[in-house]
Amino acid sequence: MAGRDRTSAPGTGPGAGPAACTGAGPTGGAGAAHEAAPGTTLPPQSRHLGIGTAAVHAGEPRRKPGNALATPIMQTATYTFADTRELRDHFERRIEREEYGRYGNPTQRVAEEKLAALEGAGDCLLFSSGMAAITTALFATLSRGTHVVVTDDSYRRTRQFLTQTLHRYGIEVSAAPAGNYEAIEDAIRPTTRLLLSESPTNPYNYVLDLERFAEIGRRHRVKTIIDATFATPFNQRPLEFGIDLVLHSATKYLGGHNDLLAGAVLGAEELVDAVRALQAVTGAVLDPFAAYLLVRGLKTFALRLERQNANAQALAEFLAAHPRVRTVHYPGLPTHPQHAIARRQMRGFGGVVSFEIDGDLDAASRVVDGCQIPRIAPSLGGVESLIEQPALMSYYELTTEERLLVGIKDNLIRYSVGIEDAPDLIADLAAALDQA
Ligand code: PLP
Repeated sequence: MAGRDRTSAPGTGPGAGPAACTGAGPTGGAGAAHEAAPGTTLPPQSRHLGIGTAAVHAGEPRRKPGNALATPIMQTATYTFADTRELRDHFERRIEREEYGRYGNPTQRVAEEKLAALEGAGDCLLFSSGMAAITTALFATLSRGTHVVVTDDSYRRTRQFLTQTLHRYGIEVSAAPAGNYEAIEDAIRPTTRLLLSESPTNPYNYVLDLERFAEIGRRHRVKTIIDATFATPFNQRPLEFGIDLVLHSATKYLGGHNDLLAGAVLGAEELVDAVRALQAVTGAVLDPFAAYLLVRGLKTFALRLERQNANAQALAEFLAAHPRVRTVHYPGLPTHPQHAIARRQMRGFGGVVSFEIDGDLDAASRVVDGCQIPRIAPSLGGVESLIEQPALMSYYELTTEERLLVGIKDNLIRYSVGIEDAPDLIADLAAALDQA
């Protein structure tokens, strides 16, 4: 949106200064321009605000409808025009306003501007779920005859969409081990358009060297995409390392309360605009109420992440010293294979601790069942701690042998740490380990 100011929170990596954000451009396709929110967001001189201040204030007009302090939920499917002249002005882009709910809504715009400020991105586009963001971004970027390289320890549904759905549309996919940069580079073909990875990865918390990954992409003129759901912009801002597009399941830490589904695509205006044009057609938009929940959840983003980082570090250190635990996968531990990379490019190491029990599937189940505080559920990143065995959740229908082929061990437990008190979480887990 030309002329709208956006506050950028400071970066997390070395030399990470606030990106110059100029605001979202006119929406692509279908005449999907949007109305400027009344008032301005934070003044230009306040661009160097901390991430906590940006989480509370960025993207929010100083003056809101009805002089409300909270962001209103604009619960409407369509938007009225005073006369045909206004309609013409809208389509000629002489004014910025909303048009129809499938092209976006004002509550969503606030959440998008807040996230763009947090991520240091030129533009942000929100979706009805993380997978809606990922699938639309991939459809918008790829076409028949093109090729993608994806790293192997990536969210299962993303790999499934690539290898099963996109494959049917004539798009080729190669998988490469996340840590093997030579293999990633070797997999690139003349038709390759994208390198896609996560960092940290789900569930093993593998940390990718983002600068190196981006550099491979630049050298081969291939766009790089990082699903940064596990890290969030509190801990890591991939765009500052040269990554082209960042994806998030906002269902997780960004929403933070396990009460909404949302997804985000962030990056330079022209890249996000291409995705926006397709979203206007395919329609996986964020509902105004979910957008409101996201804005509300983001108010406490910095507080939550600080606490989750600290809780996860404490839990990981406890687990690393426990005789019933074989391995702990947490980038904040000095024993983690990419600890040095994580220290270089992350502010904190996130709230997910994955660990392997000294035992089998049933022994791991006994630990999960023995915990009284974390709830057994898929998902992660919310205020409530959640615990699960990937073998009995995302990979349930596979045999032990099939799971091993995709790297999922029966004794693996994924613990998503919430904002409870660390001593309580540790005492609870200690009791569960002792009983198992
Ligand atoms: N990316 C990662 C790393 C995830 O963990 C998930 C969900 O678990 C997704 C994407 C998909 O997000 P959603 O469930 O919001 O569609």
